[in-house]
Amino acid sequence: MLESIKERVLKISERAEKDGLIRRGSGNFSMRDIGTGYICITPTGQDREDSDIDSILVIDMDGNIIENKKNLKPTSEILMHLSAYKNREDIKAVCHTHAIYSTIFAVRKKEIPPIVFESLIVGGTVPVAEYAIPGTKELADSIIKPLEKSDACLLEKHGVLTVGNTIEEAYIKMQYVEDMAKIYLYSLLLEKKEPEDIPQSEFDKVFNR
Ligand SMILES: [Zn+2]
Repeated sequence: MLESIKERVLKISERAEKDGLIRRGSGNFSMRDIGTGYICITPTGQDREDSDIDSILVIDMDGNIIENKKNLKPTSEILMHLSAYKNREDIKAVCHTHAIYSTIFAVRKKEIPPIVFESLIVGGTVPVAEYAIPGTKELADSIIKPLEKSDACLLEKHGVLTVGNTIEEAYIKMQYVEDMAKIYLYSLLLEKKEPEDIPQSEFDKVFNR
């Protein structure tokens, strides 16, 4: 069931591995089907090389397994994905990775300010969700507040999460956040002081064009 959505989730997970945003089975991806309300989600700890469309599980909004052709375990971050869908009814996809540059700021508990126009795509500043152990309900709860204002958040001492209307859109946001983190890091290193934010008035001009 939901073969085309499974295919898209699989494709994005493979792309993320190729792009170097995930390694050795880290990271997880999901997309919700509007008709059934079910979610197609990647399994836990499986090498992408061994993955195919049947590796993607189908679950419901309570985390019950609806389809699991290869008898795998869903990602250990299933609660975090469900939390994103329950608290942001407008979104249909979730990406989570430990992308290096983003995770540097997650480790320093430092939000990424809007220093380039790409930040518009995720809603401005990328906030940091309070520390919680991976895979726990506490981690699932920690993303609720940051996601109220942003389509991306860093997970303290852990990684980064993005949401979107489609899995492709959520993934583009993941790439942008990683680029923003890289630019921010190098700009901090270059002058050893905070770069200037782009003022809201400039963002408004872009919106109004
Ligand atoms: Zn993680």
